[in-house]
Amino acid sequence: MPDYPDTLLLIDGAWVPAASGARDDVVNPATGQVIGTVAHAGPADFDRAVEAAVRGFARWSAMSAFDRSRILRRAADLLRARADSIAVVLTTEQGKPLAEARAEINVCADVIDWAAEEGRRVYGRTIPARAPGVTQTVIKSPVGPVAGFSPWNFPMSQAARKVAAALATGCSIIVKAPEDTPASPAALMQTFLDAGVPAGTVGLLYGTPAEISERLIPDPAIRKVTFTGSTVVGKHLAALAGQHMKRVTMELGGHAPVIVSATADLDAAVELSAGAKIRNAGQVCISPTRFLIERPVYERFVERYVARMRQVSVGNGLEDGTTMGPLANERRVPAIESLLADATAKGAKIALGGERLGNAGNFFAPTVVTDLTPDMTIMNEEPFGPVSLMMPYTHLDEAITEANRLLYGLAAYAFTQSGSEAAQLRDRVRSGMLTINHIGLGLPEIPFGGINDSGYGSEGGIEALEAYLETRIVTHRAY
Ligand code: NAD
Repeated sequence: MPDYPDTLLLIDGAWVPAASGARDDVVNPATGQVIGTVAHAGPADFDRAVEAAVRGFARWSAMSAFDRSRILRRAADLLRARADSIAVVLTTEQGKPLAEARAEINVCADVIDWAAEEGRRVYGRTIPARAPGVTQTVIKSPVGPVAGFSPWNFPMSQAARKVAAALATGCSIIVKAPEDTPASPAALMQTFLDAGVPAGTVGLLYGTPAEISERLIPDPAIRKVTFTGSTVVGKHLAALAGQHMKRVTMELGGHAPVIVSATADLDAAVELSAGAKIRNAGQVCISPTRFLIERPVYERFVERYVARMRQVSVGNGLEDGTTMGPLANERRVPAIESLLADATAKGAKIALGGERLGNAGNFFAPTVVTDLTPDMTIMNEEPFGPVSLMMPYTHLDEAITEANRLLYGLAAYAFTQSGSEAAQLRDRVRSGMLTINHIGLGLPEIPFGGINDSGYGSEGGIEALEAYLETRIVTHRAY
């Protein structure tokens, strides 16, 4: 077994155990074995972390945008140089194949580079005045210390999106990263320290999520809250933030529709959507889930898709040839089993998979389901696993109605060679992100975020930085 580090808390520039000494076990999802521990923070640690973030903010926001950018670029370079070794840690604790782990780390580096560059272009503006001698200046300032909550499906890149945007705009940030997968976020934070980010500017906590959010969000020193995770938890945290008038970014769940027109290049549609589905074993908020396929090509699409899924090699992500790892934690297995049991009890048919694989680890078979109806829970709740739901449609209107049926509105996919269909989809599909004829989401330079129950705010593009800035106006009459 590769070396796997125990994880401590990062407070005031130093790695420390919890003041109480408490620790939790970390489990390898491919073997079910305990591989290490993570410190479990309590009230004394929370207090120290907030005090350090206040000092860190004073230091970091006083630095020029140019110098901050240089430090962030250095962190991105360090991350790229360390990608191979950190990837082993990430796969060991999270399960995804090594190639995906490496890709995630390189995405982190790209996200940090992008934020570092954009952070140098946080421009204010001057607005022409009505009276002589008056200058009206719009100033963009960092909002202040941030509390970020990041999930276990992308333990590094979800944290990196928050940290990069916060730091690039001059904020400090405390991240509560996932207890299931703690060592890779710690490796990310280490690169910021090694690149020269001052003490207190980045902090890292683990513990009981609700205790941490209930302590950090109301604290007057914390000026912004950013969360990635389930809609139910997001609503709870947004309500708490609202009570304390905190700025909020919420990246929540999705139930992505995939509309496949009869005009589509079917082979490309199968290959691209199946590839996106097995990524991270389907534990992706933008994972393609509800496949809406035009009737003349329905049978053909499902047949080819099932054949493609049969080629998926499920196994330990550290082993060569594995194309899909285990689910990241044990609780996802019964969660998916119960969604499938509800669906089959109501008439759904399992065209492929539908069950746990092996006796150890959280392996779940790539699963394809047909004969679905809207009353099935799986048609309404995010499966967050390698499950594809196949439905035929007759008219595009029907597909768009189904795509828009849920309150979720994160990602949507479509395959069509008709310009008119593409234009209708662009205008009528209600989702924060729509990608047509390719898989084009998640790049650092384009917005990433949802609408409706999928949250608000964006973690990509220039919008990612705007979320960490406050807008002030100074109007000055000189004579
Ligand atoms: P969960 O809903 O309890 O937790 C989701 C995330 O929120 C975890 O990272 C957890 O640490 C955090 N969290 C939970 N309660 C919190 C609180 N009170 N304060 C702060 N953070 C809190 O359940 P889970 O089993 O970890 O995941 C279940 C579902 O969450 C998945 O099925 C999926 O729908 C969703 N999820 C979404 C994403 C995403 O990228 N949008 C990531 C992970 C999980």
